[in-house]
Amino acid sequence: MSVNVCKRDRQVIIDPLVTCMPMGAMWAVLGINHGIPLVQGSQGCSTFVRYHLARHFREPIEIAVSSFHESTAVFGGGKNLNISLKTIIQRQNPELIGVVTTCSSEIIGDDVYGFVDSNKQELKDLGCDGTEIIPINTPSFAGSHFTGYDRAIDALIKNLSTVNENIENDNEKINIIPGLLNPGDVNEIKHILDTMYVPYTMLTDISETFNSPLNPKKQEDPYFGKGGTAVDEIKNISSSKGTVSIAKYAKTGAETLEQTHKVPAVTDNLPPIGIKGTDEFLKTVNKLTGYDTIDTLMTERGLTLDLMADVSARYLAGRKLVIFGDPTLVTGLTSFVIELGMEVVMVTTGSDEKTFPTDIESISKHQSIDVITEGDLKVVEDYVKDKDNEVELILGSSEARFINYDTGIPLVRFGFPVYDRVGYHSQPIVGYRGAKRVAEMITNEILAKYYEKKHWKLQQ
Ligand code: SF4
Repeated sequence: MSVNVCKRDRQVIIDPLVTCMPMGAMWAVLGINHGIPLVQGSQGCSTFVRYHLARHFREPIEIAVSSFHESTAVFGGGKNLNISLKTIIQRQNPELIGVVTTCSSEIIGDDVYGFVDSNKQELKDLGCDGTEIIPINTPSFAGSHFTGYDRAIDALIKNLSTVNENIENDNEKINIIPGLLNPGDVNEIKHILDTMYVPYTMLTDISETFNSPLNPKKQEDPYFGKGGTAVDEIKNISSSKGTVSIAKYAKTGAETLEQTHKVPAVTDNLPPIGIKGTDEFLKTVNKLTGYDTIDTLMTERGLTLDLMADVSARYLAGRKLVIFGDPTLVTGLTSFVIELGMEVVMVTTGSDEKTFPTDIESISKHQSIDVITEGDLKVVEDYVKDKDNEVELILGSSEARFINYDTGIPLVRFGFPVYDRVGYHSQPIVGYRGAKRVAEMITNEILAKYYEKKHWKLQQ
């Protein structure tokens, strides 16, 4: 019905809900087959991200760094980049290096584009010119991790996609920009497209690089994780039938491809979380490709609806909850819990996405939702602890665990990072099967908190 939009009422941020912009760029580059992010900055900027990613995915994460020291602030990072590029290419010979800038390299004014250009001849002379080197500007003071992801995808598209002058070269594929989805989610999107026989290019694909098997066989040397999108595949995306940006707030790459290569961009759909969002996704795929939705997916839809019918009126309807996290996730989850009959009282993200309040308003139906922009964890804590708000459930990352311990209000872990539970990243929350899992996760927390003691006695 309506949203009440307000901003965090303090200047200071207490426990931010967003993290460093370069992290999003590294996430995107790590989804490329034989791709390596090279952090143009100090060691902490790579160690921090490695720690953050390893904690969530429980995988070793390969990130290179050009290792700035005090003297770099005076002389610039050109020499550091030169040595780093030569070392990485001679040791690893990757398909692609994403040169990810940081606060320090941006503040001192490093011209990474110029540095990369000036290194080309030397790399050629050394026989090291087979690697694509893509600069990605990510000054962390100017945005969040999903801004960094957006910039990286845009940089990859701008630098790699080649012109398709012959319409006959149409590759029949669609491009998918998954955003900061987990491996389980990317696999679910692939399952949907494979089931419909739709060919696709994932921009980019972390489903295996962030979720690798422990394999006793001898590993290749140099070692790269399996999977990821091939560089050659990205070069061919201008021949695709369209680009669907699941990352509702990271759509610049899709728009660039539409402007430069006339590949239609679909960027305003609901994320495919829940029935409505997944329906929209399938309709979009059908419209772009002409491929029909098939019975397997309709069976999955039916099973999810069956569960929703079982739990919605009985356990979930009218229960009040708050949701925090990345705007794409928050929008998708809000839409789905409203489908489940729950009452969303407050949503917040750590950013100030212009369309976020209106997006929430368009899915709020009869509900009145407080939308707090540029929020932080303290905003969530204060809201939840205010008894007038009668909050019964929190959806968000592991960072809210102390609010859960303090208040006893259940926290269902979604988003990034989730480090105090296992298995979250490897299972989906998108698609019909993901919606079923989300409904199960929420219902089980509600049952454990509000029904365990007295309810089951009545059921005996
Ligand atoms: S200094 Fe900037 S780029 Fe480096 S970790 Fe901190 S926020 Fe990220």
